Amino acid sequence: MSNVESSEQAPATLLVHGFYDPHEFGGVVNPPVFRASTMLFRDYDELDARLRAVSAGEDDVMYYGRYGNPQTFELQRMLAHLEGGHRSLLLPSGLAACASAITAFVKTGDHILVSSCVYGPVRHYIGTVLARMNVSVTYFDPNLGADIDGLFRSNTVLVFAESPGSQTFDVHDIPAMVAVAHRRGSIFVLDNTWATPLYFKAFEYGVDVSVHAATKYIVGHSDAQMGLITTNKETWERVRGYVRAMGLHAAPDDVYLAQRGLRTMVVRLQRHQSSALAVAEWLLTRPEVEQVLHPGLPGAPGHALWKRDFKGASGLFSVVLKPRYDREAFRAFIDSLSLFGLGLSWGGYESLVMPFDAKKSRPEYAWPYEGFSFRLHIGLESPKDLIACMEDAFTRLEKLK
Ligand SMILES: *Cc1c(COP(=O)(O)O)cnc(C)c1O
Repeated sequence: MSNVESSEQAPATLLVHGFYDPHEFGGVVNPPVFRASTMLFRDYDELDARLRAVSAGEDDVMYYGRYGNPQTFELQRMLAHLEGGHRSLLLPSGLAACASAITAFVKTGDHILVSSCVYGPVRHYIGTVLARMNVSVTYFDPNLGADIDGLFRSNTVLVFAESPGSQTFDVHDIPAMVAVAHRRGSIFVLDNTWATPLYFKAFEYGVDVSVHAATKYIVGHSDAQMGLITTNKETWERVRGYVRAMGLHAAPDDVYLAQRGLRTMVVRLQRHQSSALAVAEWLLTRPEVEQVLHPGLPGAPGHALWKRDFKGASGLFSVVLKPRYDREAFRAFIDSLSLFGLGLSWGGYESLVMPFDAKKSRPEYAWPYEGFSFRLHIGLESPKDLIACMEDAFTRLEKLK
């Protein structure tokens, strides 16, 4: 089967078959990489027709490298379908997707509302580039729900949230916040990276624009950076117009890697989910641990909202230690997590650890803990081995206390 149009299909089937017809390319299973800037037109009339199609806002037109190629078009269609949005665009990084999804809607003098737990570099963008454009920001408590209403001003045009927020893992009441934003005439933009297009169906909850660091679970192998913006019908022209005007696009080899990663995302996420929950549950039993911030864990902060709105959990969560260890012991603990790479990003097949200090990285956020904290990405290794590795590290930590 090829050219499958049905949105009824289960995600696993869509991701395997997609919209590509192998017989257009001699039966080759994977779409080829189109390394192209120039695309030739047979004659003047063809040039004219394509130019008119592009100018009229038609999508998926073979016109010039920056506008995409058959593989870009297919990947964008698959991702839009998966999340239930209107259309998608691929960008060079997750940060470019976040920044573009905001900039497309603001002008000098506007005000935006941003969740206090958003990804650090998004804050940097807002505090530098947007500040120079005289766009003002209010950071809000992720747990406000409908009370976000009190923060709107006459010039508020957009709300940006990341749910759950990386590091702190607050689950926002998205439908309540979206309802208020729409009543106030604002666009609601969600960074949905943690849940992926599989586990939170942003458009069913009224979100206008969803962004993803495709670098994480979509690429899934820590070998390419990519951003994704998916919109509803109403916001599509605005976002596409901005992205085109800025000349943003994803490179063909990276598109190939993202496409290949996406094929296995359903099975990878099942494993990330079950292993992360197993490790998180084990961590809850440890006397060294103050709190496990994993929304999928019964009793954890945000669990009720997660259960109401999400279809699953990915492999990323945070841990707070009891406040009885000093920095040297914590440093030795992190260094002894031999199966966990110490590095930025997440969503690849490998486990990672990253210490963080939410008081510094999320200054407006009311972080209630005193102990050291770290974020774990649980990869595709055996969860038993990961737990054994952590057990050794805890033994070391206690000795150094
Ligand atoms: C990593 C990340 C980004 C940025 O993605 P890059 O591809 O690294 O630019 C944006 N939002 C969240 C939640 C992320 O974790």
